[in-house]
Amino acid sequence: MDQHGSRLDAGGVDRRSLLRWSAFMAGLLALPAVPYTARIAEAVTTKPRLPVLWLNGQDCTGDIEAFLRASRSSPSSLILDVISLDYSELLMAPSGTAAERSLTDTVAAYGGRYVVVVEGSIPNAANGTFCTIGGRSFLEVLRATLPSALGVIAVGTCACYGGLPAASGGTTGAVGIRNVLGSSSVPLLLLPGCPVNADNLAATLISYLALGTWPATDRSGRPTFAYGRCVHERCERRTFYQRGLFVREWGDAGHQAGWCLYQLGCHGLQTRGNCPTVRFNGATSWPVGTGAACLGCTGSGFWDTSAGGAVAAAGTVTAAGTVAATGSACDGDAQGRNRGRRR
Ligand code: SF4
Repeated sequence: MDQHGSRLDAGGVDRRSLLRWSAFMAGLLALPAVPYTARIAEAVTTKPRLPVLWLNGQDCTGDIEAFLRASRSSPSSLILDVISLDYSELLMAPSGTAAERSLTDTVAAYGGRYVVVVEGSIPNAANGTFCTIGGRSFLEVLRATLPSALGVIAVGTCACYGGLPAASGGTTGAVGIRNVLGSSSVPLLLLPGCPVNADNLAATLISYLALGTWPATDRSGRPTFAYGRCVHERCERRTFYQRGLFVREWGDAGHQAGWCLYQLGCHGLQTRGNCPTVRFNGATSWPVGTGAACLGCTGSGFWDTSAGGAVAAAGTVTAAGTVAATGSACDGDAQGRNRGRRR
């Protein structure tokens, strides 16, 4: 193996693990195992590292934390071996002007070849002064780095749509990345979630690294491999929904038996994402799997229209009619829901 292979070896990743991870990535991207497992493994060990600038705006750093804390047993931790993270305020050793120089040097040296990952919303009010880094507003930093990027990946709902900082009552004029990129021809991928799923981000990067193309997206820019279907479609509680078996109160017998959380405000029917299958924390679990309702965190209305409804329902039985009013194209199981209303 070349130096990339040596680096993987140094990180304790043997050939078997690499192939297992590559097969997982191929599956996640809905590609056939043959020939794509081998192609991904080859790309990881032979392709030059992809320069990545990770820019943080108004955020809690939850997305980069999720990405970095993917445990060694999680395949996506491997992605850190095949990118060159040239700028990250959370991680980089330099500070002050030296740190800012890392950013401007990468833009100057790798024009058209670097990827920008944007985390957090962008304050637009008062000329963006609510988020100032190295004397420049986040808005200015983005305007200086995005136009010559190979691609822009917005991670987390704040970067995609404004998220929590854009919720009702916010004063910073927080917006999502589209408001900055406008009609630019730079490829833009939206990976909403609170936080983004690290495996989905890894697969997006691997798609470019191994195939030379970004994954297919829907019209809003979300990769269809991750956001093509509703949470409800693959939820392990769906059979209970279809049978009309709903949790009525947190901790009741239905909750303990793993019944559907629809009547406690679950937004799985209106929310797109692969959370039930990819899961989090090394694929150990996901919110609905732990007994909590889906808050709809990948939606453009999060926080005001998604989480608010679920929080309001916590601890009570939501009137089924109220929840049903938010039904969507994902709802192909209305019969079961109606059966539940009569119980
Ligand atoms: S409503 Fe929520 S808990 Fe019930 S099946 Fe759908 S996603 Fe799962």
